[in-house]
Amino acid sequence: MNDEKGLIFDIQGFSVHDGPGSRTTVFLSGCPLQCRWCANPEGWKVKQRLMYSRQKCRADQEGCRRCIDACSRKAIGKCDEGIAIDRALCESCEDFRCAQSCFQEALRLSGRWYHPEELMKILARDRNYWTGGGVTFSGGEPLMQKTFILEVLKRCRAAGIHTAVETTAFVEPAFFLEAMSYIDFAFIDIKHMDETMHRAETGVSNQLILSNIKALAQSQWRGRFILRIPVIKGYNDSKDNIQKAIDFMEETRLQEINLLPFHRMGDSKWSQLGERYDYRDAEVPSDEELQEMQKLFSQRGLSCYIAEDVNY
Ligand code: SF4
Ligand code: SF4
Repeated sequence: MNDEKGLIFDIQGFSVHDGPGSRTTVFLSGCPLQCRWCANPEGWKVKQRLMYSRQKCRADQEGCRRCIDACSRKAIGKCDEGIAIDRALCESCEDFRCAQSCFQEALRLSGRWYHPEELMKILARDRNYWTGGGVTFSGGEPLMQKTFILEVLKRCRAAGIHTAVETTAFVEPAFFLEAMSYIDFAFIDIKHMDETMHRAETGVSNQLILSNIKALAQSQWRGRFILRIPVIKGYNDSKDNIQKAIDFMEETRLQEINLLPFHRMGDSKWSQLGERYDYRDAEVPSDEELQEMQKLFSQRGLSCYIAEDVNY
C-alpha cells in the first residue's frame, strides 16, 4: 500500500455528465498540456496556488488588511480596487498565511492534499448516492500524479467501484496502459490532428497522445472509451481537421466521438490566479456548427455525440 498524498483541486459530488450514471468527479492537479482555452487553469501545476476574488474582498468597504499583516514576505499591498499581490514572491510560499487569515474566502488555495485513505472515505460516503455510477478522475491530467492515482485506482478496483477518467493521454506509454487496466470507462481528448497546430495551442506534440490511443485500441483492455474533441472555433473545427480525425478513427477502428463545445466558464479563474485569459472573448460554436461536424462523422458510420448528449 502506498501512502503518497495527491493534490486535488475539486471534488464534485453529483456529476451526471462525466461518465455513466451519477458519479463523483475528482479533479487532480497537474497537466503536461497548457491549452490556452483551458477552463481549469488552477489545475495546471502540482502545487497549491493563491487565488484572489476581488468581489469577496473587504479591503475597500471595510478597510480590511488582515492578509497584508499576515504575510511575512510583504507580498500584499493595498490598491484602488482591493489588494495587489506580488505573485513572484508567492511562488515559493509554503505557509499561505494570507489565505488562512482571510475570513471572507477572498483568498483561497487552488487545491488541497489528500491521503488515498481520505479520498476513499469520501467515495465510500458518496457511493450511497450513485445510481449506476462511480468515480471519474478528471483534471488537469488525472494520470499525472502517478503513485497517488495508481493507489486510488487499485483501491477502487478492490472495493468494486466503477472508475472513469477524462485524460489527455499525454502519459508515459507503459504507465498509461497500466493505469487504464484499472479503469472501466474513458474520455480521451484529441485537440488537433496536426502536430504543429497541436503544439501551438497546447504547448506539446500530439504524437504521444495518438500513439497511446492506438496502443489502447489494440490492447486487450476491456473498458470502453470515447474520443473527445474540445471544439474551438477557428482552431480545430475545420473540415480538414475533422476528416483527419475520421481517418484516424477508421484506422484505429474506433466508433465513438464526443464534440465538447468550448465555453468561457473558466474566465474568472484566470483572473483569480492573476493571469490573462487569451480566450476571454473567443466565440462559442453554435448548435448548427456542431451539427454540421456531427454529420461528417455520422456519414461515415461513426457515433458522434454533441456536448452532454452522450449515449452511455
Ligand atoms: S484578508 Fe481577505 S477580505 Fe481582507 S483584505 Fe485580504 S483578501 Fe481582502
Ligand atoms: S501566498 Fe505567502 S507570500 Fe504570497 S501573499 Fe500569501 S502569505 Fe504572502
